[in-house]
Amino acid sequence: MNNGLRYARNLKQPITIKQCKENWRYFAVIADKAILRVQNIRVMICTSFFELFKIGPGPSSSHTVGPMRAGNIFRELVLQYFTHFGTEGNYRIRCELYGALAATGHGHGTHRAILAGLFGQIPQTVNTRWLSNLFETPGQMYMPDFGNLKIPFTEHDIFFDYTHNPYRHPNTLKLVLLHNFRPVFERIYYSVGGGFIEEEGNIAHTANTPQPRYAYHNMDSLLWVLEEQGLTIEELLMQNEIAITGLSEAEILQQIARILAVMHQSVQEGLKKEGVLPGGLNVYRRAKGMYEKALQHTQHGRHAEALFARLNAYALATSEENAAGQMVVTAPTNGAAGVLPACLEYLRNDCLVPETLLQKGLLVAGMIGFIIKENASISGAELGCMAEVGSAASMAAALFSFCNGGDIHQISTAAEIALEHHLGMTCDPIKGLVQIPCIERNANGAIKAYNAYLLAAGRTGIGKPVISFDQVVEVMRQTGQDLSHKYKETATGGLATSFGWGNMPGS
Ligand code: SF4
Repeated sequence: MNNGLRYARNLKQPITIKQCKENWRYFAVIADKAILRVQNIRVMICTSFFELFKIGPGPSSSHTVGPMRAGNIFRELVLQYFTHFGTEGNYRIRCELYGALAATGHGHGTHRAILAGLFGQIPQTVNTRWLSNLFETPGQMYMPDFGNLKIPFTEHDIFFDYTHNPYRHPNTLKLVLLHNFRPVFERIYYSVGGGFIEEEGNIAHTANTPQPRYAYHNMDSLLWVLEEQGLTIEELLMQNEIAITGLSEAEILQQIARILAVMHQSVQEGLKKEGVLPGGLNVYRRAKGMYEKALQHTQHGRHAEALFARLNAYALATSEENAAGQMVVTAPTNGAAGVLPACLEYLRNDCLVPETLLQKGLLVAGMIGFIIKENASISGAELGCMAEVGSAASMAAALFSFCNGGDIHQISTAAEIALEHHLGMTCDPIKGLVQIPCIERNANGAIKAYNAYLLAAGRTGIGKPVISFDQVVEVMRQTGQDLSHKYKETATGGLATSFGWGNMPGS
């Protein structure tokens, strides 16, 4: 074996794009090109915790949070254009939605989110009541303000293409600025899950992307770095966050506390409310009733029922808030936003875990989300629901393991078990709403996460697990690729098309 090939096969630590290019030149000379291909060299994870966990309105991170951000980014470009070229003449903005964004955009409020973005609203601070009322009156004209010019915008300026998607991603939206009915410029945005937006022609990671202090691209390389550096997982993640964001440790902890507070509030608000959720499916809120049952179970000493009912109630609470368009945190997406808050609430309220430990636990959960996002996807439109609720359950299993004293191997095993038992799960939301099966699915995700932690913690003295976390992430990616598009947030198969709508009290 020559030196280049030996180096490549032993390559555990990920390298930067710059290093990748330099090493590739080196490899090209000395290595066997048939075996060593540039795509085998992974690029490190540069995602910040605060890109993964974003505060924003429900019901969907890819269909609501992402499009609002895209609308806002496009607004900035239009403002720059007007600064250079003035505002003389008749301007309009046209929006085109493709793939899953078109198929379930109405149910997810994509059209409202884009208009809010054009108004300059951002997900963290948008008024959810104002947002949910947009386009409620047919034919109403809105006048988003671009400096000293207001551009008229109606529902007819948004085109849903249900049959044709010429672009590379299933969640595509195009925004076009028109001057006297002729296109001036356009941007194509891909909403890739969890509220992340990519722009056609822009590479997400560049040499200027802030670099983490300790590079890793999957669990295997993370374990290698931890061992090499003699760090704990929470130390490594904090150092990386400092390097990527430029914030101090105190500032990062303060922002994590804010994320935790929004998650906590979403549970508490959801536990108070009753009634039917919007959207016409006649789905009743059940979190409050479930919590009352949990209290009764506790009173009667039914411990197993009390545990399950509490996790169910907390997950239902946040998921119902999400379905009602209220503020939640992408964890890693809005559709799966109920799982982690439920597990955090259980640890906080019922196990009395201190906030400082929960903050570190959420960092660890975020690491699982980073690895899944980098190596597979967290988008239901790309890989089905295993990428959303499966990822959330995997992150929550890691949280449970960490907060209960598990080491990185146990954390990794808990995350692996939780993800493994979501493989193949389809995304088929009825009427394109994030209600059936999504709300109950979050409750089940929380319970599976708890059980995955127990299964991992119970593995003592029997060696390494047969399947590693990285392997199950790869299997998820392959399984998701094989799924029919009917089961990828298009509401054209499965539960979404098998039964009548609107006649089911609950699901
Ligand atoms: S089925 Fe799963 S992936 Fe699809 S919208 Fe619901 S929660 Fe998201």
